[in-house]
Amino acid sequence: MNHQIKKIGVLTSGGDAPGMNAAIYAIVRHALKSGIEVCGILDGYKGLVEGHIVPLTYNDVSGIMNRGGTILGTARLPEFTDAEVREIGIKQLQKNQIDAVICIGGDGTYMGGLRLSEMGIPCIGVPGTIDNDIPSTEFTIGFDTCLNTIVDSVDKIRDTANSHHRCIIVEVMGRFCPDLAIRSGLACESEYIIYSKENYNEQEMLQTIKENQEKGKKDFVIILAEHTVPIHEIEKVIKENTNLEPRCTVLGHVQRGGRPSAFDRVLAVRLGIYAVDLILQGETGKCVGHFGEELVATEILKANELPKKQAQEIKPCVKKI
Ligand code: ADP
Repeated sequence: MNHQIKKIGVLTSGGDAPGMNAAIYAIVRHALKSGIEVCGILDGYKGLVEGHIVPLTYNDVSGIMNRGGTILGTARLPEFTDAEVREIGIKQLQKNQIDAVICIGGDGTYMGGLRLSEMGIPCIGVPGTIDNDIPSTEFTIGFDTCLNTIVDSVDKIRDTANSHHRCIIVEVMGRFCPDLAIRSGLACESEYIIYSKENYNEQEMLQTIKENQEKGKKDFVIILAEHTVPIHEIEKVIKENTNLEPRCTVLGHVQRGGRPSAFDRVLAVRLGIYAVDLILQGETGKCVGHFGEELVATEILKANELPKKQAQEIKPCVKKI
């Protein structure tokens, strides 16, 4: 136990994700139980620099486990890459007698934590993002909830596609990680999944549609990962080369919200507790993750350099069905 740590701060930064509140809950409850005080830093590094810091008590985190979003708020502060701006943040931590910080967010948030740790503030990162684009953990907090939201939405879209014999192209989030597209595509019987620019093959898509039509299929759902191929380009190709009436749906921000799934809550609680334990053991500049049943801590510098996950074990199924 690191006896120099008496008070820790917790912040959420970058894109919000369902389950961030469950992580905050676990961090506060476990720290208090360990004799450590906790402060919430509002709106990520922006709130840190502006000094928006509030104490968090046992009761402040009661009943937040099942709430989407983050009670601490989140923001982006590109200026945090500037050491002088971080100095202001460090002064705010000192003013509030905060000895260490747990940073919940994606790889950008991790970099902010790493830079703070290099300036003498112990920091640990917790993976909170719907995109599952952090390679130092099998799953990020929020991914499972988001995946279920997509599946629920596409099931509804399939109903109307089926009734009208249409082809609906559904664009899903994921930043540059294909996991949401591949897993939702499989779970929703999507006829074609476009999860990267490289895997998109216009002729293969048209051929798949044709073969399915010959077997009697009348409704089609194409899952498209954002930042790959423009959705209206796919729409045009289908309109011009098939007898189907294509429609486009961009699921958008509905994917970010909602009550976290049980999986995300449990993951968040385990990773939150682990992050507090690492701080108490004197660790810094690391991020926590989860593989199988094992909790792992990886140096942030190494974690951000690992190759991005490509849903390796799932990808072959796309071709087999
Ligand atoms: P995410 O954490 O979801 O990847 P961003 O990439 O937007 O989201 O990063 C969130 C915030 O982390 C940024 O607005 C900035 O304040 C901070 N940040 C990102 N990259 C760095 C960096 N290289 N150095 C310091 N702070 C950073």
